[in-house]
Amino acid sequence: MNEKMWYRRIPKTDVLLMDERIQNMIKVQGKAVVMDAIHMELAHFRSLVKQGADEELLENRLESLIDHIENNVAKIKRANMRPVINGTGTILHTNLGRAPLSEKHMKHILSVASGYSNLEYNLEMGKRGERYAHFESLLCKLTGAEAAMAVNNNAASVLLILSTLASGGEVITSRGELVEIGGHFRIPDVMEQSGAVLREVGTTNKTRLDDFERAINEQTRGILKVHTSNYRIVGFTESASLEELVSLGEKYELPVIEDLGSGVLINLENYGLSHEPTVQESVQKGADVVCFSGDKLLGGPQAGIIVGKKKYIEQMKKNPLTRAIRIDKFTVAALEQVLLEYLSEEQALQNIPVLRMITKPREELEKKAADLQEMLFSCELAADIEIVPCDSQIGGGALPLEKIPSVAVAICPHFISVDQLEKRMRSLPVPVIPRIADDRVLLDVRTIEEESFSVIAAQLQKFQVLEPRKKVEDKTAGADL
Ligand SMILES: *Cc1c(COP(=O)(O)O)cnc(C)c1O
Repeated sequence: MNEKMWYRRIPKTDVLLMDERIQNMIKVQGKAVVMDAIHMELAHFRSLVKQGADEELLENRLESLIDHIENNVAKIKRANMRPVINGTGTILHTNLGRAPLSEKHMKHILSVASGYSNLEYNLEMGKRGERYAHFESLLCKLTGAEAAMAVNNNAASVLLILSTLASGGEVITSRGELVEIGGHFRIPDVMEQSGAVLREVGTTNKTRLDDFERAINEQTRGILKVHTSNYRIVGFTESASLEELVSLGEKYELPVIEDLGSGVLINLENYGLSHEPTVQESVQKGADVVCFSGDKLLGGPQAGIIVGKKKYIEQMKKNPLTRAIRIDKFTVAALEQVLLEYLSEEQALQNIPVLRMITKPREELEKKAADLQEMLFSCELAADIEIVPCDSQIGGGALPLEKIPSVAVAICPHFISVDQLEKRMRSLPVPVIPRIADDRVLLDVRTIEEESFSVIAAQLQKFQVLEPRKKVEDKTAGADL
């Protein structure tokens, strides 16, 4: 049959619309979606003809036209945002949603957020309450602070703090601490939005206490210390310590603000990592206001947590800006759950996925890698599958120099390139995001939950991803790819 004859065999849309299955689809999904699905399928068929696909394939496609239209409807209605498997070994991967939450915590969120809750209702008094009440005393207990609140994210914390305490005045910061967080987000730009004027002091590598002192004038409203969370300045360096800044702040009656970035509540040194300043340390050293992220090393939901002196926190709660960046009920529920775990360090390490991944012992990683390798062997892929040592990273702009020794399963395909394999893994129904190193596809088992192993294996098997592709291929045949 020639091209023209195939085109002539394509059913007219009017005819398709009279088909009983199509009519049922329209009843359930609406006409617009079904029309799109029909047009997708017909366009695909035409492209197959144009590419010179073989007769049998075209014949089959014509026979199963309605099935494919049904598939297209499902594809159109499928959520674009979905779970992926993180094989990169980067624990706080901002592009992959940063900190994963545990199932146990998600169940609680579901129970309070799928119906009504006491979000802003004081059950004892029977009247209006504060949304911060669910976690404020917990945060105070854990950090030693007098008061606490939380907003949408930590960038919002910085904005709110400066807008409340320093709008129209100056805030002094070290030149060595003007952080760009990522996504073109820079501390100086956030400060500008707050209406505070940034007074930079010192140089990139050296800032001393007297640099701060000399910059103080009648316009000064506060001193800001920013933790260089995602970079380190090493070599010939000097910076003013928090203690020094606190005594300077006391002398001139200026609040000292510390943006910790990641904000941890447990000492990671005990688990073989470098020291990352804890929130408790900052509070204890006398910082007036401390802010940090909820979804970095804390391992919770996206949030900006602010703790500190009651008089400052009270002012922030009253700032109208707070309403624009306020924390929602899902986050309140999640934050309380995660903070409750920190009442016992052991529980926190066990029940908060980020901490569990960071502290996973070597033997367990080796066992996990062996299990995954075994499963991949059973897929009979045309590839070498080995267990190799690798380095995991914290990510999310925390402990930038830290490499945590880990174990990966390395896949080295025989017939396709490593890049092609990576691309195919990315386009699976449950996408698998690996890391490429030394011309191999690596799956770092530190960031992959055991339950995901069978998902990876089933998908790789089904799609025979390691075979070379046929010239003209029916990409949408069978299960959706
Ligand atoms: C990550 C980070 C922020 C921003 O926190 P988000 O929660 O991502 O908004 C602000 N300051 C520092 C120092 C950071 O590391």
